[in-house]
Formats: sequence, structure tokens, C-alpha cells
Amino acid sequence: MQNTFNFSAGPAMLPAEVMQQAQEELINWQDLGTSVMEVSHRGKPFIEVAEQAESDLRELLSIPSDYSVLFMHGGGRGQFSAVPLNIAGQNELSQHLVTGQWSVAAEEEARRFCQTQIIATSKEHEGKMYVPKQDEWTIAEESAYFHYCTNETVDGIEIDWVPRSTSGNVPVVADMSSNILSKPLNIEDYGLIYAGAQKNIGPSGLSLVIVRNELLGKERRDTPSIFNYGLQAKSGSMYNTPPTFSWYLAGLVFKWLKAQGGLSKMAETNLQKSQLLYSRIDESGFYNNNVRQDYRSKMNVTFKLRDESLNDSFLKQAEENGLVALKGHRSVGGMRASIYNAMPISGAQALVDFMKEFERKNG
Ligand code: PMP
Repeated sequence: MQNTFNFSAGPAMLPAEVMQQAQEELINWQDLGTSVMEVSHRGKPFIEVAEQAESDLRELLSIPSDYSVLFMHGGGRGQFSAVPLNIAGQNELSQHLVTGQWSVAAEEEARRFCQTQIIATSKEHEGKMYVPKQDEWTIAEESAYFHYCTNETVDGIEIDWVPRSTSGNVPVVADMSSNILSKPLNIEDYGLIYAGAQKNIGPSGLSLVIVRNELLGKERRDTPSIFNYGLQAKSGSMYNTPPTFSWYLAGLVFKWLKAQGGLSKMAETNLQKSQLLYSRIDESGFYNNNVRQDYRSKMNVTFKLRDESLNDSFLKQAEENGLVALKGHRSVGGMRASIYNAMPISGAQALVDFMKEFERKNG
């Protein structure tokens, strides 16, 4: 029985089986007498790991052959710069849907490199946040790209539909740092998807980019080479030394996902975990969530205690019960339970039981 459940938003908990395997082969990997992090990225053993990881990811997400998969450095924020550098000219326009802290930050960074415009934002109605549907706003056909964040990690807002321009010709760029691999996707809806690894993929230090090949080779002249998508695609993400350990561990996570039954199965489990928590919140007059039902994140469940003077005692007692890292982001306060793929249903259930008990004692 697991006795600690880690609800950290990222770096976040990884599957127990994956951590176990990494531990077993840490100092003697493939009987080579060394660790995977001590071998050349250009040697056959590592190249095999790298290629297998890409092929498993392609299978999991059904990535079409006219898309490249890049294993890059620089986390999610690195891509905030890389995207405009690679696919927008200095005088070109990127349009943004802003729904929370991370899409705000992406637009602010893009502004350094191209013209930007916020065309829609999340809104509040009767105390609940939601995202206006596309009949209220349109993507300009002249935009170099349209950017949004599919899951706002801090605000707990997830968007399950994909925006598109009327013609369908404006590339849709999605920051999926906190919900990639949590459900199946139709990759062709997107020109480019990126994600920092440290939630649903593996350790920090790696970011994944899935990009339609026709967007490669459009980079600005001053794009740093390590951020040049075309160059990275040509060199199999080995223009320079990649984050090899993170890449290896991501590969183990992809194998684990396949063994769990793939992304449809993950979507089912993630829905179940999040429903357990949201039902508890909604049933009580003690907790509150401020996101409209259809935009509630299945990865980051945010909630507040109606009596916020109880926050410290909630967190302390949760920790005593093995439920750790539940404190909300400092900018919004309250609580946040991050329940990525690796969180078992029993973890969500343990939190629900604790919330019930805490309410009974303090309500
Ligand atoms: N986008 C989203 C949705 C995130 O959750 C985060 C990190 N929490 C980032 C971007 C930034 O990632 P990094 O810290 O890897 O730059």
C-alpha cells in the first residue's frame, strides 16, 4: 500500500512502476556497467532508447507522419520564445486566447518577438469561470499562428474543444504542458503542440514539441540554433546533447501508458478521479471551486475552503495523512490537487475521505 500521495503540480509524481524500474537499472543499465546518464547520446544503446521513445509516443498519440517530434531543452517557457521565433516574423501577428496564468505568460513572451493580440479571454459568470465559444470571437486569417493553453495548471481551467480559424489555415499552437497524454487527441487539429515534461511525461529538463513539417524552416535568422525546430528535426533532436536521462525516463513512461491501455483508458481514469473530487467539493458547503462544470480541469483540481482561516490546519492535517503538496499556487491561494496520469484512483479517494473527515470536524 502506498502511504504518501503527492499532489504536486510539477515536477509531479511519476508512476511507481517506472520509478522502480529506473531504480533497478540506475547504475547498471542494459548490463553495460554504467548508468543511462553516463553514455553517449550518439551511441547505439542510447539511440535505440531515443527512437523507441519517439515511436511509442507516436503510437500513443497517433501522430501522423507529416509531423515531427522534437525532444528539446528549456521547459514550457523555452517554447514561449521558440514558437514565435520559429513560426512568426517580427512584423507578423500571433493571436492569443488568454485563460489563466500560463497563457498570459506565453503572450507576454511572444510580444518580445512578434506582434501579438489577445482576441479572447476567460470570463466569469455568477462566480464561475468559463471560456467564450468561438461564435463570440474569430481568429484573423492573416495571423502567423493562434496560441492557447489547453489546461491552465494554476487556475484549474481545461478546454476540451479546439479553436480554429474559419479557413482552418491558421496554425493552432497549444501549450499542453499539464494535460498532454491525459486523453486521446486529434493531432491534425494542431500546427504545433508543446509541453514541458515535468507533469505527465517525465523529469523536468525536457520539453516535447510535435510540429507539422510544413511549419519547419520558417525561423527568424536570429533564432538560437538550439531553439531552431528545423535544425532539431534534421538532427533527430541531437543538434547538441539532449537531456538524455529525462528522454530515457519519458520512454519508460510511454511504455507504462501503453501497458495501462493507452490514452482512452487514461482519459477514463482521469475523469473518474476528477469527478470524485469535484463531487466532494460540490456536495459540501465547506469547499468551493470557481470553474464552470464544462471547463473544470481533470488534471488540476483547485478549490478553496469557505473559511480560509482553516487553510493551514487543512494542509498540516492532510500532510499528517500522507497527502502532500496540496497548497494552491501562491498567486491564487487556496488548494490545488494535481492528479496527473500517475496519481492512482486510490490517491484521489484518500483525499476525498480526508476532505470529508476534515469538514465533519470543522464544518
Ligand atoms: N505552461 C504550463 C501550462 C505550465 O503548467 C508550466 C509550468 N507549470 C509552464 C508552461 C512553464 O513550464 P517550465 O517551468 O517548464 O518553463
